[in-house]
Amino acid sequence: MRISFWGVRGSYPVPGPNTVRYGGHTSCIEARSDGGGCLIVDAGTGLRGLGHKLAEAQGARPCHYHIILSHVHWDHIQGLPFFEPAYLEGTRISIYALRAAADELQQVIGGITRHEFFPVNLEAVPADFEFHEVEPGVELQAGDFTLMPVALNHPFGAVGYRVFADGTSFAYISDTAPFSDMLHKKHFLAGPESPSADDKAQLVDMEQALRKTLHGTDTVIYDTHFLPEEYEVFPHYGHSTPDHAVAMCQGNAVRQLALFHHAPGHTDAIMDKIAATYSDRGSKVGLVVVVAQEGMTLTIGGGERA
Ligand SMILES: [Zn+2]
Ligand SMILES: [Zn+2]
Repeated sequence: MRISFWGVRGSYPVPGPNTVRYGGHTSCIEARSDGGGCLIVDAGTGLRGLGHKLAEAQGARPCHYHIILSHVHWDHIQGLPFFEPAYLEGTRISIYALRAAADELQQVIGGITRHEFFPVNLEAVPADFEFHEVEPGVELQAGDFTLMPVALNHPFGAVGYRVFADGTSFAYISDTAPFSDMLHKKHFLAGPESPSADDKAQLVDMEQALRKTLHGTDTVIYDTHFLPEEYEVFPHYGHSTPDHAVAMCQGNAVRQLALFHHAPGHTDAIMDKIAATYSDRGSKVGLVVVVAQEGMTLTIGGGERA
């Protein structure tokens, strides 16, 4: 199995001279099984480039695409209306997501193409869409890939996935904060607060379930939006640090950690420093640490980099 990064940024796209090397597009990853099966992980603005490549390869042949979403914040769905294969007759698109609101998934995801926001609504798009709700801890199949969703600590909820294919696996853990404050049901402008005894118990369960899900994974892609000093200021924003990601992987039979969901303000120069600091720290604890970069492909299970 191989994975390619099409968008590595959190929050909003940041094109420009300061992000040329690491990339400015928001979250989107392409996974390929050895048999050629395709799984799309999150649909941020990186999805536009991936969709263009897929549409060219598709030609007149009808194709079925599987898109798994961590949650429906903008930086994880904004590429969907610009996904070129959706405009080709015969395309089928299955979308897998957590239902965090009372509305059906179709209403929530279809809502981004309401006529006020976008000139073509979901019903008018030639592709056939199917929506599948995911539930943390309940395994499901998407084409060649077996998925195990796991709950994350993010305002109004998000899910991570361990993705199995070809006898190996990677995990996609975005977006999540460390497990010190329960963020599920509050707006982040409410600010940090001490968790209740119930929340504390739930946070312990969530962290344990995540550690267990990551155990033995070849490559873990982790939300490392903040540096530790930034996290101190914004602990309730729902994002993590490279230090926390290393702690989740260390001693947990993980081979490689890919830092992901980079803060919009982290320029190429800052990212180079992060890469140097944490690859060094990883090597001290037997963990390969890489920084996700647009255009980078990783071989899962093989340890090669292209
Ligand atoms: Zn995000
Ligand atoms: Zn989010």
